Amino acid sequence: MPKITVERVIHDLTKLYPGAKCTLDFDTPLQLLVATILSAQCTDARVNIVTKTLFKKYHTPQDYLSVPLSELEQDIFSCGTYRMKARAIRESMHRIITEFHGQVPRTMEEMLTLRGVGRKTAAIVLDCSYGVIAGIPVDTHVTRVSKRLGLTRHTEQAKIERDLMKQTPKEEWVHLSHLLVAHGRMTCKAPTPKCEECVFKAICPSSRARKNVHNI
Ligand code: SF4
Repeated sequence: MPKITVERVIHDLTKLYPGAKCTLDFDTPLQLLVATILSAQCTDARVNIVTKTLFKKYHTPQDYLSVPLSELEQDIFSCGTYRMKARAIRESMHRIITEFHGQVPRTMEEMLTLRGVGRKTAAIVLDCSYGVIAGIPVDTHVTRVSKRLGLTRHTEQAKIERDLMKQTPKEEWVHLSHLLVAHGRMTCKAPTPKCEECVFKAICPSSRARKNVHNI
């Protein structure tokens, strides 16, 4: 059985999902930063419902600091873990004002100084807002699909990202993430992948469409 390569994955999934991109709604880097913080352990669809109202009320970093914490918590309540997320938003906004002249930073190093911002959030915000490619966003879909395809053996996000970065041209880093997310949502689902419908069913090491494979 031929080994699956990232090149093959990008080629085949680009055909399947030509419009794969960030599915969070935003108009500005600040909005995307808030949306990505809210998206932790929450669906993008739910976040988009919440931010539709949220972004009409909060326009600047200062706006998030000018209301009581409890009011912000209430405004983001339905995204889950709202206390933690409200604190992360507030502390990030404070830092953006005091350290970055009110602007969302443009480097990975600076982004990682914001509370609630890990490499996944930073990579998405930098690429989708500024066109700065600084990493591969690894979420639950990217973790699952890249493991099933045999692109990594790790479960830790940082190690998965390193494995994928080694195999992927830099200009494709974020695109690959969008493609794996799309495939994870549509076909390579958790807990039961739809292997019979999958473009990789004949060559995927985890394919249930081949005989004697039970390791998904
Ligand atoms: S063959 Fe099955 S396990 Fe492999 S990528 Fe496709 S859906 Fe996922």
